[in-house]
Amino acid sequence: MIIYRAQVLDVPDDPFLGGALRSEQDGGILVSDDGLIADRGSFADVRGRNPSAEVCELTGGLLLPGFVDTHVHFPQARIIGGLGMPLLDWLDQCALPEEARMADLRYAQDVAAEFVSGLADAGTTTALVFGAHFAPAVDALFSAASDRGLRVTSGLVVGDRMLRPELHTTAQRAYDEGLALANRWHGEGRTRYAVTPRFALSCSDEMLASCAALHAAIPGSWLTSHVNENPAEIATVEDLFGCNYVESYHRHDLIGPHTVLAHNVHPTDGELDCLATRGAAVAHCPTSNASLGSGMFPLDRHLAHGVRVALGTDVGGGTGYSMFKEGLQAYFMQHLRGARGIPLTAAHLLHLATAAGAAALGLRDEIGDLGVGRRFDAVWLRPPTGTPLDVGLHHAGDPEQALARAFAMGVSTDVARVWVDGERIKTERLAYHHAEL
Ligand SMILES: [Zn+2]
Repeated sequence: MIIYRAQVLDVPDDPFLGGALRSEQDGGILVSDDGLIADRGSFADVRGRNPSAEVCELTGGLLLPGFVDTHVHFPQARIIGGLGMPLLDWLDQCALPEEARMADLRYAQDVAAEFVSGLADAGTTTALVFGAHFAPAVDALFSAASDRGLRVTSGLVVGDRMLRPELHTTAQRAYDEGLALANRWHGEGRTRYAVTPRFALSCSDEMLASCAALHAAIPGSWLTSHVNENPAEIATVEDLFGCNYVESYHRHDLIGPHTVLAHNVHPTDGELDCLATRGAAVAHCPTSNASLGSGMFPLDRHLAHGVRVALGTDVGGGTGYSMFKEGLQAYFMQHLRGARGIPLTAAHLLHLATAAGAAALGLRDEIGDLGVGRRFDAVWLRPPTGTPLDVGLHHAGDPEQALARAFAMGVSTDVARVWVDGERIKTERLAYHHAEL
């Protein structure tokens, strides 16, 4: 048993429904040997109740729940920063050529290692990951994530049209390869399988029907894809299917409580109703939406219709792994929407980056906050001494102000330690190196 002594911040209850930031200025989190949070409160109280437990002093900085990234592409780890293009040009010129390189297993293994390091170093402990179009590459991703200890839900990305020919597959092959991967990885340790049609644009009805069959064949599997990202893309999907974007999935029974769709920047009211009624979640990816010029996310309409929303980095359309940056960009975007924008506080940002993501992935009973009964998935944000963030945290007037500064200035190298199930998955090596510079 270890008591972690730190300033603890989390947002267990939805701030869009009245929840607020929960804070322990000099807090104690007691973690059992198997990674469960067994006690929580002021350090003095927790220490008093558990006098024989070891104490780990996390002096300075903030202890936060591990981040949950609900939309991130493993094959795009090396192409982050392809600025200056709208979605379909970016896919053609930037993303898909790199996705094709995943046919080379050695290349995919190297990228998988870089990708899981990118997540863990940023403090992301759980992710819904878009895999690759090649089964051995997806296997490499699961292996790398499993070795690192991350909670990863992922799967084979499939499509049978309008990509590069080498990325196309058939409905039968998509089913067979997906089932083989799921048999190997679904429910194995912290990994789960997600059926992953790339987007309706690249999937015939036959392919989407095969995805539905695979989803039904793997109990507890997830379904993830893209929706309503860019006006040109949406128009093409409507031409191909003769219906709206959400309906192209819904008519194959792909919209449900285990569904997470990325973007949804330009939904109709009918589409929002469908997502809400069916209990699907949307992964809002603000740096990607801004970088590709996809549009301003209508958070107000999602909330009004009761659609669940979480955050995703959308690496590599997004601009990096840090959920601090993603939260900040979500805040910027709502601020710039004027009267239609939802004012986001730091508590909203932390909730979206943790508990909301856990809920979208059906993991809320286990993770998402640092309360008793949760798994100890946590991030110690401890910027190097004397950096602007360190100065800002030191002089923050209250916990909300400290958290706002964390989102405004925090980067991956400020994340000193990361735990999943009480196991360290990041050491201070990077942070110390940063300090030496
Ligand atoms: Zn994406």
